[in-house]
Amino acid sequence: MSIQKNRCWECINCLYRIDSTYDDEWSRKCPKCKNELIFHVPQVDSWKAIVTDLPGIWRYYNLLPLFSPQHIIALGEGSTPPVESKRLAQLLGVRRLWLLPQSANPTGTFKDLEASFIIAKCREWHLTRLCWHSTGNTARSYRHYALKAGIQNVSFYPLNCAYKWSGASHHDDALLFAYDGPFQQISTIAKNLRRGGVLSTLRHWHGN
Ligand SMILES: [Zn+2]
Repeated sequence: MSIQKNRCWECINCLYRIDSTYDDEWSRKCPKCKNELIFHVPQVDSWKAIVTDLPGIWRYYNLLPLFSPQHIIALGEGSTPPVESKRLAQLLGVRRLWLLPQSANPTGTFKDLEASFIIAKCREWHLTRLCWHSTGNTARSYRHYALKAGIQNVSFYPLNCAYKWSGASHHDDALLFAYDGPFQQISTIAKNLRRGGVLSTLRHWHGN
C-alpha cells in the first residue's frame, strides 16, 4: 500500500490548518476561532497514485481522516459487484448501463460504508462503549461493525420502527432499546448518557 497520507484539518472560518495529531480531534473545534474543522482533502492529480490495495471503500484510505490502518474493520462494504441493466439502458437511451446494488453490503444498506469508517475511527480514539439512535438502518449497521470491533454499544430506536429490527439478535455487548415516543426524545436520552460519561454518542460526529 502506498501511503501518501494527508494529515491536515482546516477551519471553515479562518482556514487555519492543523495536523491530525491535534489533541481535540474529537470536538473538531478550531483552536483559534472555535469554528468547525473539516478534513482537508488534497487535490489529486492521479487516482493511481492515491488508491491503495485495501478492499472496498478503503481503497481511498489516503483521503480519509483515519490515521491508523490497523483499526480498519473491513467486511466487504463498498465491494458490491456491478450489475448490468439492459432494460434501464434501453429506457434511458444509452448503450450500456451498470447499477451498484448497495443491498449487497454486509447489513444490506449503504450505511455500511460510513459505519466501517466510523467504527474504525472510534477504535483509533480508543472508545470502548458507544450509543446511537436511529430508526433502523444506521444503528443496525453501526451495531454490526461495533460488535465485530469488540466495542460495547447501545442502540435506541422508536417503537414504531420495531419492524426494521425484527431480525436483530440479542447480544450482551449490543443492547437494544425500543422507545415509545418522539424521535427527538430518543436523541435527548442518548445525549444524557453521554453527558453522564456512561457512553459516547456518535450523533455530533455524524453531523446531525
Ligand atoms: Zn478558525
